Amino acid sequence: MGFTNVHGVPGRVGNAARGALIDGRTAAQALRAETAELVAGMLAAGTRAPALATILVGEDPASSVYVSAKHRACEQVGIRSIDQRLGKDIEAQRLAQSIQALNDDETVDGILLQLPLPKGLDAATLVGLIDVRKDVDGLTTANTGLLWQQNPALAPCTPLGVIELLDRAGVELAGREAVVVGRSSLVGRPLAAMLLARDATVTVCHRHTRRLASVCRRADVLIVACGIPHLIGVDHVKPGAVVIDVGINRTERGILGDVDFDSVRPISAAITPVPGGVGPMTIACLLANTLRAAELRAPSGAAPTIVS
Ligand code: ADP
Repeated sequence: MGFTNVHGVPGRVGNAARGALIDGRTAAQALRAETAELVAGMLAAGTRAPALATILVGEDPASSVYVSAKHRACEQVGIRSIDQRLGKDIEAQRLAQSIQALNDDETVDGILLQLPLPKGLDAATLVGLIDVRKDVDGLTTANTGLLWQQNPALAPCTPLGVIELLDRAGVELAGREAVVVGRSSLVGRPLAAMLLARDATVTVCHRHTRRLASVCRRADVLIVACGIPHLIGVDHVKPGAVVIDVGINRTERGILGDVDFDSVRPISAAITPVPGGVGPMTIACLLANTLRAAELRAPSGAAPTIVS
């Protein structure tokens, strides 16, 4: 499910597959539909809709587009959203007060501080003020620790989206070699924890890695999140590997991934396109995380249901 092979036939990634497309739009749509159904169930049971608050500081155009997309997505699945926009010159203390007010608001389940912040505001300190139970980006120190202890409360949305996509495409992880290119707090590091928790043998590469191509060629599952257009080419990929491209690079040639899709696709078992791969999964996982946060805070302490 979630992809079509070279002949356009839906299926799962098998040993004989070559160049199958892992379709993030279809997978994200399925996850969103599941979330919408669970939200509808909550409303039918007389519980209020989950609520997500976003805080956008300044007027960065890309961030503004992302935040608007998040609100539209919330609306589609029945999640209430609160859109706070603050001037770029806001003092850290005033921003801290806004976060605290949302922490104290019982009707808010998730809080997302859109990054990057304008210069002069320390993201780590401010993210650290978010109530751990409302940290739908999974970036607080407590949630990072819980993830590495295999007891995640709320985990970052992009790596969650990668794991969801692999699961929905039927890619086996246990016992297989997974190589992650990139070690950011947002993607590479949490992804390494998630892959370890799924019993993969994990290697993490970064800007100091020597012989990157030969390390990447170990991978049965290669996941790339380094922010360098087309860094990964045919020399980096073992024939038959599954390749997941997290990169979204705006270039003069349009939006490019970190993987040279056209040359890598024919030798891969399956690969994600950019756009239309991991990107749509990130927002779908934010919605799932908001629902999960609402469940975690529910008086009954209901067990989280969607994202494992
Ligand atoms: P993102 O938030 O999308 O993960 P970042 O810019 O925060 O992106 O992180 C980029 C990551 O890519 C860093 O961990 C860095 O070490 C890694 N990286 C950068 N250049 C290379 C390279 N030439 N080879 C391997 N990894 C690289």
